[in-house]
Amino acid sequence: MALPEYLICMECETPTYVFEWADGKVLEALCPMCGNDDPASFISEEDLEELVAAEEEDEE
Ligand SMILES: [Zn+2]
Repeated sequence: MALPEYLICMECETPTYVFEWADGKVLEALCPMCGNDDPASFISEEDLEELVAAEEEDEE
């Protein structure tokens, strides 16, 4: 996957530009809003859209 412009914090849904990206995944990231720094708790905009689309399908 290409380097995203920003990542979204899954804790508070705030975009952050402070992150390290390598081999298609997040190495390090920091949320300026809630202070979350767990790389597993950040998602790219592209992945978020896929997640939202999958959740909408589940509701039916
Ligand atoms: Zn956050």
